[in-house]
Amino acid sequence: MLCVEIRLAFKCPGCDHAVPINGIYRKIKCPDCQEILDIPKLRDGRGWQELLNFGNPAVSVFQHAQRMRLGETERGAFAPIKLDSTRKWPSCTECGETISEELLANPVQLGDMVTCAKCGSGMSLHPAPSLLTDSYPCARWIVGGAVELGEVTTEAEFQKLSHPVVMKCLNCGGTLTIDGTQRLVPCAYCNSPNYLPDDLWSAIHPQPKRERWYILFA
Ligand SMILES: [Zn+2]
Ligand SMILES: [Zn+2]
Ligand SMILES: [Zn+2]
Repeated sequence: MLCVEIRLAFKCPGCDHAVPINGIYRKIKCPDCQEILDIPKLRDGRGWQELLNFGNPAVSVFQHAQRMRLGETERGAFAPIKLDSTRKWPSCTECGETISEELLANPVQLGDMVTCAKCGSGMSLHPAPSLLTDSYPCARWIVGGAVELGEVTTEAEFQKLSHPVVMKCLNCGGTLTIDGTQRLVPCAYCNSPNYLPDDLWSAIHPQPKRERWYILFA
């Protein structure tokens, strides 16, 4: 078994912001401009294949990792793709303890979680979906990353607003209804457009980071 730590982002074609891809997604919404990236269709339909191949269709992330020493990292930025891959075993997001190879060797018995032997916190575990195995047939498991095959997801949607955002219309003082879908919000009372300030917009749409997640290959 071989494990690769992934940190991945794709530059949004709509606004040029790097959209972190923290797991295997079908569609992901740019947290900045809200454009929807249809990942399998990116790069003329090469999608997931190209996201993980360091710009060389003949070499997969798996073959790359086979040549790397344990702990070695390869960083790449190929036009819209930014990928760091490190050959290493997953480490617990809470305490940093390495999740042992023995534990990962029989993950089927563990349900949808691997548990850190030191602190007991869990990391998600998903069988590699066909979205990935179509291009990387030896991929078996995704550890610590989301597997989201639904329509549209953003990292931000996972961290839904805990309380509603209230802002008053700059023109008439009426309360604006802010749902986060548009930045220019028309007032329901006087019809004036209100442009949401940066701090409010970023509070509604927290910028997700490139997280570390892992692909386990057979
Ligand atoms: Zn964008
Ligand atoms: Zn731990
Ligand atoms: Zn108003």
